[in-house]
Amino acid sequence: MINRAWHETHRLGPKAKLDERVAWHIEHAQVCGCREMPESIKAELAKRGITPAERRR
Ligand SMILES: [Zn+2]
Repeated sequence: MINRAWHETHRLGPKAKLDERVAWHIEHAQVCGCREMPESIKAELAKRGITPAERRR
């Protein structure tokens, strides 16, 4: 399942900062299930004590 409308309005550029990437993936996991959260982001969330939503299917 891909949430195209959300992706159109939430573009993550290649130069996005880590904070932006983390925030993007947290929101993405809640609204769209097109791809798994990268391990690097999961590790960063764990470091920050954040438990992300389960991937939607
Ligand atoms: Zn998506």
